[in-house]
Amino acid sequence: MERTVRMRVVVVGAGIVGAAVARELALAGVSVTVLDRSASAGGTSAAGEGNLLVSDKGPGAELDLALRSLTLWQSLLPEISDKFPSIEYEAKGGLVVATTPAGATALQAFAETQRTAGVESAVVNGLDHEPDLNPGHTLAVLYPQDAQVQPAIATEALLALAKQHGATVRQGVEVLGPLLSGDRLSGVLTSDGPIEADHVVVAAGPWSGEVSERLGVFLPVRPRRGTILVTTRMRQRIHHKVYDADYVGAVGSNDASLQTSSVIESTAGGTVLIGSSRERRGFDESIEARVLSAVAAKALVLFPFLADVAVMRAYGGFRPFVPDHLPVIGPDPRRPGLWHATGHEGAGIVLSTATAELLTDLMVGRPVSLDAAAFAVDRPTLLAESH
Ligand SMILES: Cc1cc2nc3c(=O)[nH]c(=O)nc-3n(C[C@H](O)[C@H](O)[C@H](O)COP(=O)(O)OP(=O)(O)OC[C@H]3O[C@@H](n4cnc5c(N)ncnc54)[C@H](O)[C@@H]3O)c2cc1C
Repeated sequence: MERTVRMRVVVVGAGIVGAAVARELALAGVSVTVLDRSASAGGTSAAGEGNLLVSDKGPGAELDLALRSLTLWQSLLPEISDKFPSIEYEAKGGLVVATTPAGATALQAFAETQRTAGVESAVVNGLDHEPDLNPGHTLAVLYPQDAQVQPAIATEALLALAKQHGATVRQGVEVLGPLLSGDRLSGVLTSDGPIEADHVVVAAGPWSGEVSERLGVFLPVRPRRGTILVTTRMRQRIHHKVYDADYVGAVGSNDASLQTSSVIESTAGGTVLIGSSRERRGFDESIEARVLSAVAAKALVLFPFLADVAVMRAYGGFRPFVPDHLPVIGPDPRRPGLWHATGHEGAGIVLSTATAELLTDLMVGRPVSLDAAAFAVDRPTLLAESH
């Protein structure tokens, strides 16, 4: 009897991206082993917010990836909620608020360009949607497609589904170097011995640059710090994801110094998350008053009532930053057998689902519906960084 040999893939990283990739590959019949040097959802995927946003993305490849991701998130819900009723998916919509006349003009123009690319939006009376919003704002645009999940639980749910479809998840196993067969990657050397594979996918979030280097290639993924304030529980006074129109500029900036913009949302647990900051200062984990006060000051402009609300804690993580602000998805021609699914910066939760689909389509030879070249590791805008 003829035996079919299944493709074997090692996924490095059990964050949301690795989890989504593992599920999609396993569903396609691939034999998947996920390795994480710590615990699943122990990296950035448990250290941020769970916004599934299209409202902050201008027309282009990332927006197309986000729109496809939202569709995939919705189609995943029945499968996930069977086992994880609390991934806290809420299609609550986003409200983007300008607080200056210039900000209002820019926001309106941005929303118009997005509409041509499939993003729904409407100029609204902000107070009709958020009664506690600062009445002095200059424009409010409602984006009904924006949603949210609890990112750590969503990661665990995707990993559980991957396992259900046959994937193996090994925690506490660190990838140390390559197993080579000539120039080709034939697996990885790990803290628990060698593991052979036909393909290796780097999904190591902000550590992807380091892991890629261990596997023999340079990849310009660097950590971009973000810090969030968490209030104590309160009656729900914030109903959408509310953020200031400056947010889009802060996301797209390459400035290494501190940038803050307000992203405010209530959670199913009753707390309010007040984010966030962006700063490139390596893997420095300190939580500083100068950052917290800047984040809080911007939030009070949108919701003055927050001035009297008690803060319970602050936390932060490292976004996987790439200089041209696009994720890296696909094979690495410099090292056959090596693949990347990383560099999602502040959008890895939302983008994980379509990233997994695109990578799997490319790997198993299915038709690809997105512009894969825009995410290729050898795209000109990323290559410029490699020299
Ligand atoms: C403050 C903040 C707010 C955010 N808000 C949002 C948001 O609202 N919406 C959104 O979409 N995104 C948001 N993000 C971004 C999002 O969290 C990330 O893009 C996403 O979590 C990246 O997931 P990942 O799986 O690539 O990486 P990670 O979750 O970091 O997983 C990588 C894993 O790789 C493992 N690893 C590293 N090195 C090795 C090794 N050598 N061997 C084995 N394993 C290794 C790590 O232990 C880790 O578990 C936010 C991020 C921050 C910091």
